[in-house]
Amino acid sequence: MRPFTYARPDTLADAVALLAAAGPDARVLAGGTDLVIRLRDGTLRPSLVVDVKRVPELAPSIRLEGDTLVFGATTTMTEIAAHPLVRRDLAGLAEAAAVVGSVQIRNRATLAGNVCNASPAADTAPSLLVHGAVVVAVGPGGVRRIALDDFFVRSGVTTLRPGELVIAVEVPAPASRIASAHERRTRRRGHDLASVTLACGVDAAGVTRVAYGSVGPRPVVRVDATGALADPASSEAARAEAFEAVFADASPSARSMRAGPEYRLAMLRVLGRRALATALDRLAAGE
Ligand SMILES: Cc1cc2nc3c(=O)[nH]c(=O)nc-3n(C[C@H](O)[C@H](O)[C@H](O)COP(=O)(O)OP(=O)(O)OC[C@H]3O[C@@H](n4cnc5c(N)ncnc54)[C@H](O)[C@@H]3O)c2cc1C
Repeated sequence: MRPFTYARPDTLADAVALLAAAGPDARVLAGGTDLVIRLRDGTLRPSLVVDVKRVPELAPSIRLEGDTLVFGATTTMTEIAAHPLVRRDLAGLAEAAAVVGSVQIRNRATLAGNVCNASPAADTAPSLLVHGAVVVAVGPGGVRRIALDDFFVRSGVTTLRPGELVIAVEVPAPASRIASAHERRTRRRGHDLASVTLACGVDAAGVTRVAYGSVGPRPVVRVDATGALADPASSEAARAEAFEAVFADASPSARSMRAGPEYRLAMLRVLGRRALATALDRLAAGE
């Protein structure tokens, strides 16, 4: 591991100043479940690591501000999976948080860390995308709110600017309630790397959003333009056609250790149907 300077600021202003001064050579440390591995294996060699766990604005919290559900950046997967508001209104996100890694990982892994790491396979990304999540970033230029769909670029790369850090993730109340579900497929051997992650959200107005990851350079979200997915009267053929359009952007790599492309594309369709069925059941049950 290359030596680096470790800083643990107590204020947001100090954290931003440290990151801004070091530029792209600095890294934020939250739970460290991704970062520490990359420091150890040398794939990241920052000169400065800024531990943000003492910055009050990033503290773990899940709170309603008006109609918006706000997650403090360092909120852990364990807290998300257990929170009654998340389980009631963002069921897919609660399910996603509950399957990240292991108990030990979930107790440390943060929501902002999962999003900022920008893995195409990040488990929380699909559910956050179907619920229209927004990333709140603070940097030398002030506060920016970035729709999550505009945040991911490709594996490990986001639209965060040098000197910026994420202080929260917001999920605004939708115009009509969205019932969601999360599904994933992992490898059977070795680390349980996700070969497909997927979330489906259906709203009371009949609009279906499907988001998926681990089958391309970044997670994507698509709206079912046909309306067939949410319509109980749709034929099997109409649903299959709607799924084909939604999955048009899936392009799994042939070189991945996670699974072959044919298998992943087949699983995408299976998981899409499962998540849709669960989301429709939840919508009907008012969950
Ligand atoms: C054994 C194991 C199993 C895992 N299983 C899963 C899994 O099943 N599903 C899954 O999705 N992930 C999994 N992960 C990956 C990891 O646990 C998650 O991505 C986790 O959410 C990362 O959060 P963290 O707080 O640990 O991030 P860190 O490791 O602290 O940071 C990750 C990256 O985000 C940046 N960052 C963190 N916080 C901020 C912030 N507030 N502002 C700006 N940048 C920030 C860091 O600089 C770093 O680049 C696993 C990891 C391990 C080691």
